[in-house]
Amino acid sequence: MSDAARLLVVEDEAHLAAGLKLNFELEGYHVDVAATARDAARLLARPNGYATIVLDVMLPDLDGFALCRRLRESGNYTPVVMLTARSAAEDRIRGLEAGADDYLVKPFQLDELLARVRSQIRRSQWERKRSGAAPVGNQLTFGRAHVDFSAHEVTVDGTSLHLTRLEFDLLRYFADHAGRVISRKELLEQVWKLRNYPNTRTVDNFVARLRKHFELEAARPLHFLSIRGAGYKFVPEGLA
Ligand code: CA
Repeated sequence: MSDAARLLVVEDEAHLAAGLKLNFELEGYHVDVAATARDAARLLARPNGYATIVLDVMLPDLDGFALCRRLRESGNYTPVVMLTARSAAEDRIRGLEAGADDYLVKPFQLDELLARVRSQIRRSQWERKRSGAAPVGNQLTFGRAHVDFSAHEVTVDGTSLHLTRLEFDLLRYFADHAGRVISRKELLEQVWKLRNYPNTRTVDNFVARLRKHFELEAARPLHFLSIRGAGYKFVPEGLA
């Protein structure tokens, strides 16, 4: 099966890496293993792309968060499923902020990881297929941006723009509640799926990212407005 999806497993624990490789291969994937971030970077520099990267947070040279961030900064948007030993919400947020698409806590069920990887591959294949098709419904135009939520397509001034999954979900939530003041707490619960999480700084970071993507001047937003003491309001038509 030469057209089987290729996966990259970045994990320094040899037993776990070998076990994952074997099980993914049994599922029909091609699998490369990197034991360090340096090895991973070398493999990622090769032209044959990976369908998904399974990335352990604890690596000997560079942590998984930093590796993921570098990947995104270099314009590589291969889906990343992060593995961590800690279930702390803080870690989950760090992973998502670094641009990871999904997150799994060790020890995890193998079936669960296989399902998450399958879902990432399905999603990116679907996005690729959709991007060639005529857009349908579920569209939003604001400022210089056009968003097709069904096709997961975003363009600004006609140039397509890649949003991370969380950026996209946040934009979607704003779009669904346009014109209404939304608290940071509500965003954490509805978009991040975090309850009673004390630190809302991550929300501010992501709103800043949306402003950078969509506002003419991020410092003087016309669409993603801060409402002092209350939260944020999305105004598609723009501030008059
Ligand atoms: Ca490790």
